[in-house]
Amino acid sequence: MKGVLTVVPRDAAEKGFNGKVVMVTGGAGFLGSHICERVISGGGRVICVDNLETGRLENITALASHPAFSFVRHDVIEPIEVEGRLDMIFNMACAASPPRYQLDPVHTFKTSVLGVMNLLDLARKKGARFLQASTSEVYGDPEVSPQREDYRGSVNTQGPRSCYDEGKRAAETLIHDYHAAYGVRTRIARIFNTYGPRMRPDDGRVVSNFIIQALKGEPLTIYGDGSQTRSFCYVDDMVDGLIRLMMASDSVSGPVNLGNPTEFTILELAELIGARLGTRPRIVFQDLPVDDPRQRRPDITRARILLGWEPKVPLHEGLDRTISYFAAELGTKAEAEGSIS
Ligand code: UDP
Repeated sequence: MKGVLTVVPRDAAEKGFNGKVVMVTGGAGFLGSHICERVISGGGRVICVDNLETGRLENITALASHPAFSFVRHDVIEPIEVEGRLDMIFNMACAASPPRYQLDPVHTFKTSVLGVMNLLDLARKKGARFLQASTSEVYGDPEVSPQREDYRGSVNTQGPRSCYDEGKRAAETLIHDYHAAYGVRTRIARIFNTYGPRMRPDDGRVVSNFIIQALKGEPLTIYGDGSQTRSFCYVDDMVDGLIRLMMASDSVSGPVNLGNPTEFTILELAELIGARLGTRPRIVFQDLPVDDPRQRRPDITRARILLGWEPKVPLHEGLDRTISYFAAELGTKAEAEGSIS
């Protein structure tokens, strides 16, 4: 329900926020806003930083009046200062959906490279732990499956996805070097496809597109023949993993894959969404975007061993929750439009 913060710790790791000051960049976004809530419910203070390019204020409405929450509108490509102590930084700032991050590729690259440098400088000055939202995109169009952290990837430096993929790869290098040269306490999460409440309806990614299309009775747009695969992780599982990584020992400085290892074709996803809605949606096939990875599936052995983490929410259950969220969003929007006309 909008405007009400449910303060229920989901995972013991959350207690590590107690009494801490935590910056969440991209804090009004999909993953960032969930992290903000969990910091507060764990007893911490949040400095939420967002330029509102893809983040939405409505994601943080429930937190806005909480005394432990503050919001700063800021683009991380510019240096940032904060007064007083700072214990942790979650860097979740960057558009993550291919159509969105391709709108302004230079800005996307700057967000990953200049943004990370600015935040690493802040972490160094304050002695704060730094967690980077990296991505499975560092593996590009992988030639091995599942992908382990030591796989170096197959990435195009000259394509429409390069601004994001190579930006995130360069960010990992900076993080490695700030850790090695200056002793900054760093963590890198390689996040695989994640879905759930608070994705933007117009995000452009496959789960949100299919659900919105199915709810509106429109045909589902499959790019290519639908045989490409992805592994979909429910947002609560992902946020549990990110928090555990932040709370892990400083010795865990190398990249850790976080994602759901169960792989589906895009065609299977379309059928499953239809089945959950009790319909047989029509499908239209459209061109496959350039450099669209053929497959993607994480090997999460490192996360299992180092963090004691693995996803718990099966796809059908996560989809049901996400369908309810989007149905409510569409209902609210329709109501708002109705009251205007
Ligand atoms: N996709 C699709 N229809 C859509 C949106 C995406 O078939 O309406 C495909 C896309 O080409 C890709 C997969 O679904 O193969 C996942 O796309 P998404 O943008 O969600 O994430 P990606 O893993 O590509 O970053």
